[in-house]
Amino acid sequence: MSEKSIIIIGGGIAGLSAGCYALMNGFPTRIFEMHKKKPGGLCTSWKRQGYTVNGCIHWLIGSSPKDGYYRLWEELGAVQGRDFVYQEEYGRIEAGEGQRFIVYSDIDRLEKEMKRISPEDSAVIDEFIAAVRRCTRFTIPWEKAPEVSTLFDLLKMIITQFPAIRLLSKWNRVSLKNFGERFKSPLLRDAFPLLFMPDFPVSFMLMVCAWMHNRAAGYPVGGSLEFSRAIEKRFLGLGGEVAYKAKVAKILTENNRAVGVRLEDGTEHRADYIISAADGHATIFDMLEGRYVDDTVRGYYEKLIPFPPLMYIALGVNRSFSDVSPSAGGMALKLDRSLLVGGVEQQYLAAQIYNFDPTLAPAGKTLVTILIPTNYDYWSALSQNEARYKAEKEELADEVIGILERRFPGLASQVEMRDVASPTTFVRYTGNWKGSFEGWQVTPSTWTLGKIMKKTLPGLENFYMAGHWVEPGGGIPAAAMSGRNIIQIVCKKEKKKFVALR
Ligand SMILES: Cc1cc2nc3c(=O)[nH]c(=O)nc-3n(C[C@H](O)[C@H](O)[C@H](O)COP(=O)(O)OP(=O)(O)OC[C@H]3O[C@@H](n4cnc5c(N)ncnc54)[C@H](O)[C@@H]3O)c2cc1C
Repeated sequence: MSEKSIIIIGGGIAGLSAGCYALMNGFPTRIFEMHKKKPGGLCTSWKRQGYTVNGCIHWLIGSSPKDGYYRLWEELGAVQGRDFVYQEEYGRIEAGEGQRFIVYSDIDRLEKEMKRISPEDSAVIDEFIAAVRRCTRFTIPWEKAPEVSTLFDLLKMIITQFPAIRLLSKWNRVSLKNFGERFKSPLLRDAFPLLFMPDFPVSFMLMVCAWMHNRAAGYPVGGSLEFSRAIEKRFLGLGGEVAYKAKVAKILTENNRAVGVRLEDGTEHRADYIISAADGHATIFDMLEGRYVDDTVRGYYEKLIPFPPLMYIALGVNRSFSDVSPSAGGMALKLDRSLLVGGVEQQYLAAQIYNFDPTLAPAGKTLVTILIPTNYDYWSALSQNEARYKAEKEELADEVIGILERRFPGLASQVEMRDVASPTTFVRYTGNWKGSFEGWQVTPSTWTLGKIMKKTLPGLENFYMAGHWVEPGGGIPAAAMSGRNIIQIVCKKEKKKFVALR
């Protein structure tokens, strides 16, 4: 082991990943995690009345050796021995009166489906499908952190990745919502913004469709907590320590150098490097009291747009749903009348039916989850009045069950477990700013600002940040890669050759 030690704040995917690579490179490492016993942060699951509520992963980029990211997961011990499901459908949009758009994973089927719905949109469909086809040949370089790349690395990347850069930069400038407006078909117009976040660039969706087609973004059987636990096991196996129920209140500094942390219980712990893989806003403005910010850092928090917080409703249903085709992202059901959730109007309801993972429910039964984007301030204010907060959550669950009953007659009487998490639940368990489920969104207008976010703070030495608050677009692979990148930066500072073990 090297002399230099590391403390990591947060045992989510980014913190666990940074921990694994720190140990591979000889730095004694401790993770301080505020949860009482679980690793994974947002990448988690919880038990309710015999069901396991999968709280996160729908699809994991790099789940198969066909994709470059697979090696990252191998290094972290996350994929070995794990079964992945590759659904025939990315998702489906049901717009009522028999109108339906199935977003097939297979590109040929997707093309046929889109042309079945709207032959008059053939030109736009051809353009989209051709771009997806090209993306199936791209692999995104991830192995070297931009911060440690040389000019030669950069030039090599530009030359080898030129076709990808050219194609994706064109589509980075168009959001899913704006692209949808190019279709004549009302169904396709409605559908495109629903495929992911409406303001996300089409380039992201092109890559997702390509990963789906290549069967490189599968669902890990067992759910999200099992996945996180595998990475925690890897960290512990390499000799790391995780302290649970250890909420960091302050990052200790001396002469503008991070030297340790003070926990909420008042204990202090010191190390040579401090890496915060916890919420970005809390790290900068609470743990460091806003002492290390400049216009760039302030600009991130003023101009970038976070992913919205969610109402996350889980239902345990005594029904097999064997007649429903499994899909990676679930189904979006058009509502007869719009639904107001925390002041945010919903025209569609997104439900995921986990009929492809029998480990999440007793035999013959199924976990169903419903994700509804909402408003943090509304639920935060409401939670001050416990009775009203609980009542409104239950009313929402009743409403959602009613909607699903119309699509799946008999379902209401088959619901035997219901669990409603609000944005305040997400904040309580993971500390994510305003309950955001994935850090910063990427949009055509904020693309440049968030392109390569700084992982350090101005004027503070020996301190780094990892995780989805410094990797716009977020997600599990970005979080894991971010932890790996930070250790490359630390190794460079320590003049050590970075090592990644499988
Ligand atoms: C419903 C849902 C579905 C999703 N689906 C997908 C998907 O299909 N594919 C995908 O790639 N991504 C998905 N994501 C996004 C993904 O989960 C996140 O982007 C990723 O897990 C972020 O990891 P992280 O380590 O950066 O942050 P986090 O998971 O937020 O981890 C931060 C950790 O820090 C801890 N912490 C915070 N403050 C402190 C403190 N003061 N002291 C100590 N510990 C602290 C927290 O408890 C937490 O464990 C989904 C997220 C949600 C909620």
